[in-house]
Amino acid sequence: MLEAGGVNEAKEVRTPVGLPKLFKSALDWNLYSTPQHAANKRSIYLARGKLLGGSSATNATLYHRGSIEDGVHGTGGLMRVENPRYNNPLHEVFFQAAKQAGIPENDNFNDWRRSQVGYGEFQVTQSRVAVSRGVTFQLNCQDGNKHSAELAPGGEVVLCAGSIHSPQILQLSGIGPQGQLREKGIPVVVDLPGVGKNMQVCSLPSK
Ligand SMILES: Cc1cc2nc3c(=O)[nH]c(=O)nc-3n(C[C@H](O)[C@H](O)[C@H](O)COP(=O)(O)OP(=O)(O)OC[C@H]3O[C@@H](n4cnc5c(N)ncnc54)[C@H](O)[C@@H]3O)c2cc1C
Repeated sequence: MLEAGGVNEAKEVRTPVGLPKLFKSALDWNLYSTPQHAANKRSIYLARGKLLGGSSATNATLYHRGSIEDGVHGTGGLMRVENPRYNNPLHEVFFQAAKQAGIPENDNFNDWRRSQVGYGEFQVTQSRVAVSRGVTFQLNCQDGNKHSAELAPGGEVVLCAGSIHSPQILQLSGIGPQGQLREKGIPVVVDLPGVGKNMQVCSLPSK
């Protein structure tokens, strides 16, 4: 595995509450969108983890079952899923305010058999247990060298650089909308108009 960032041993990575300290840090790609019309033409900060484990090592640890076929909750495995251990008195006040406003309570957002509308606690995975092994390499290597890896005969590449860098790498490799690639002087290998399109993201407040 080739990873642009470093190891995931920082205290802020091991402790989920350290999340805000990871924004715009050395463990983040420090990306901004182009100016967004719908956001008053502001460029929006896009948090993305740059370390082993990627954004999974820098995320908020909120946990949601993707499909009812997976069941509502599991009982084993490496991912420990539970209600948040830390509770602030303001949480309860917030819940009471939601109740008074007539918003329905939902005490289990993993149960897709009922409506997802409402207020309540989200389940979380309170330790980031993911173990990653890989070769890390710096894009701007201190030694000025370009690092490369050789593919074993019959081997294949699985590109999983995330929702921003995967299409970027594809486009730089000549796979993408041909007009856009030609504009940038990139030889077209495959004309795939969808590469780099339809990105949707929940934005974070930033300066
Ligand atoms: C701030 C934040 C909070 C989130 N909170 C939650 C949450 O609470 N619950 C939840 O379920 N999901 C959450 N997510 C989403 C979740 O973390 C992502 O959906 C998930 O990490 C995406 O996995 P991925 O493998 O596609 O990409 P990533 O996890 O982003 O991994 C991509 C990896 O590729 C590396 N890479 C990129 N370009 C290159 C290159 N050129 N060369 C080498 N390596 C490269 C990156 O450094 C990174 O390690 C959150 C995300 C963010 C950013």
